[in-house]
Amino acid sequence: MQKHIDTGYLLKILENFLKIASPSGMTDNMVRAVCDELKTMGISYELTRRGAIRAHIQGRKKHPRRAVVAHLDTLGGMVKGLKKNGRISVVPVGTWSARFAEGARVSIHSDDGSTYRGTILPLKASGHCYNTEVDEQPSSWENLEIRLDEKCSTLDKLWNLGLRVGDFVSIDTAPEMDTNGFINSRFLDDKAGVAAILAAAKALIDNEITPTLDCYLLFTISEEVGIGASHVLRGDVAEMVTIDNGTIAPDQNTCEFGATIAMKDSSGPFDFHLSKHLIDLCAEHELEFSRDVFLHYRSDAAAALQAGSDIRTALVCFGLDASHGYERTHIHSLSTVSALISAYISSPPLFSEEKNVIGPEKNYPLISRHSEKKPQ
Ligand SMILES: [Zn+2]
Repeated sequence: MQKHIDTGYLLKILENFLKIASPSGMTDNMVRAVCDELKTMGISYELTRRGAIRAHIQGRKKHPRRAVVAHLDTLGGMVKGLKKNGRISVVPVGTWSARFAEGARVSIHSDDGSTYRGTILPLKASGHCYNTEVDEQPSSWENLEIRLDEKCSTLDKLWNLGLRVGDFVSIDTAPEMDTNGFINSRFLDDKAGVAAILAAAKALIDNEITPTLDCYLLFTISEEVGIGASHVLRGDVAEMVTIDNGTIAPDQNTCEFGATIAMKDSSGPFDFHLSKHLIDLCAEHELEFSRDVFLHYRSDAAAALQAGSDIRTALVCFGLDASHGYERTHIHSLSTVSALISAYISSPPLFSEEKNVIGPEKNYPLISRHSEKKPQ
């Protein structure tokens, strides 16, 4: 299945998406970009009232339906206040450490559509001025401000430029794609997941594979602020696989160059049968994979379940180092995840019964451990 993935396409759309600012709450341009890709591939879609995307790939059977989901929104910031010295105080959108905001280049989006450039800096930014106090100032959002690249040293000037409390601040992603496959950029979470889903859809279309069951491709717009896939689902979706990042860290078991099946996150264990089904698909298609358990993590899946959806959920991750900071992934991990998504969409139903009721025990998916990576 991995050979079907057009990695050139995956990288191209990822690079394009990383250039589009989409902090939670300001996702319209990113929604448009994904709609354009769907249109090009001839995949039908609709937008929800709030602007999330529900695309539809037709299968041989309509029920039970499947869904694969990733989020279009990213972390970002918002203007908290206009300061008397012409600087701007800022608060985070989504959960991320001020440590990773220091030095970031940003755009501030004003009401009239103008964009102003600037840098997020610690209040004590100059070593020549503050000496060791630069190191002693705690890293916190209260200790940051935006230096605007405008002739601007008073609150009045900020006001006259049209800047207001509540303006969105988008953070430059600074993407760098190396020929050895490493991809460095902010907000690979979850633009890499979005690109992996689209590349999986393209693989199905290019190879004229008709999925067994109808499948929705869902793209949500407020995962980073905890809302996730709560409003984009329809009642007829029986299974949903979330595509998001897996964390690379000393005590984690995430596969840096393959796919990771998350067995549990902070919202609880994922669906046993659906997770096993994905593990079996990895083994069957010889996709490098591992399993992991995440402690401080929630995704689109948790939001859907907490909103009351009666669905099976699973989480498939691409390997991501320094998530919500200076992130890095690898193209092999993304293409493996993409191959797993297309294998999943084209796989037989989880249960033999058409309506996804539990069938006889012999029809249950069983684990095959062949290609499983041993924890290091
Ligand atoms: Zn994410």
